[in-house]
Amino acid sequence: MMADKYAEPLNEVDRYAVVGNPIAHSKSPLIHMEFARQTHQNISYERILAPLDGFEATVLELIKQGYKGVNVTVPFKFKAYDLCTTHSPQVQLAGAVNTMIFADFGIVGHNTDGDGLIEDITQNLKTPIRDKRVLLLGAGGAAEGVFQPLLVEHPKLLVVANRTLQKAEKIVSKSSDKAWQGKASTFEDLNNQQFDIVINATSTGLSDTALPIPDSVFAENCLAYDMMYGRETPFMQQARANGARVADGLGMLVEQAAEAFYLWRGVHPETQPVIDMIRAL
Ligand code: NDP
Repeated sequence: MMADKYAEPLNEVDRYAVVGNPIAHSKSPLIHMEFARQTHQNISYERILAPLDGFEATVLELIKQGYKGVNVTVPFKFKAYDLCTTHSPQVQLAGAVNTMIFADFGIVGHNTDGDGLIEDITQNLKTPIRDKRVLLLGAGGAAEGVFQPLLVEHPKLLVVANRTLQKAEKIVSKSSDKAWQGKASTFEDLNNQQFDIVINATSTGLSDTALPIPDSVFAENCLAYDMMYGRETPFMQQARANGARVADGLGMLVEQAAEAFYLWRGVHPETQPVIDMIRAL
């Protein structure tokens, strides 16, 4: 991604944060401060742990303290949607928000996860999605955010499989394009099906839990993509053992952060140096 003309530094520090639970593992502060250094933006960026029943109170307190916006991560993306007073068109379909802007007229909700994932798969990993058989595992906030952007790439097939089938059905039912609908599935029903791209959008990587998916889902030359980053998950191990090319979610993380940074600051940072920097840590 190319950098825009650098903006003039500001005198005041504009405060941003990522809100989640758990949050200690988040690399977002490092990424955003690197973007800020690169583009000469005067900002601060913190990790904020919100109680599981206290997301709304946490965000309202941040607004009171003058923060300009937050990123939202697991498990609060649906709660963030409810709290926003204005939603971008992508967010209206997804019902999940990962980037909030605290504006004078209210809270604006965006979702940059989809753009981040598509950019990483198609550009960084050079894997076209068009005409591929794609399996999306999970139906939480992350899956909601990437479903429509995946459909827009016109895969041959898009199956959403989730432990709770109804949630997968809900995502699929919200397809914006009736000609390119996805299919909902349980994990058990994936037997005898093969996919060219398998994306793990469940939170099982956080707890090192294996998914009950058959080895046969990984077709020859399959790209297995885990949205989790920073560790080898049981999903990655299973995919590797079945001959798949494996990628973690670091590229998506940096790309979605770059989109959020652009929404907040109006400048596009360069992503590849930041991906390389974090990979080398
Ligand atoms: P949510 O809490 O909204 O959703 C969690 C999902 O995981 C649900 O589909 C849930 O299934 C499933 N799940 C949880 N535990 C299990 C289990 N034991 N077995 C099977 N399925 C399970 O989380 P998010 O969607 O916000 O995030 C999901 C993951 O994606 C997280 O690890 C997050 O860190 C990562 N992520 C990475 C990004 C990146 O940029 N790299 C961006 C966004 C997210 P059920 O519906 O049945 O409960």
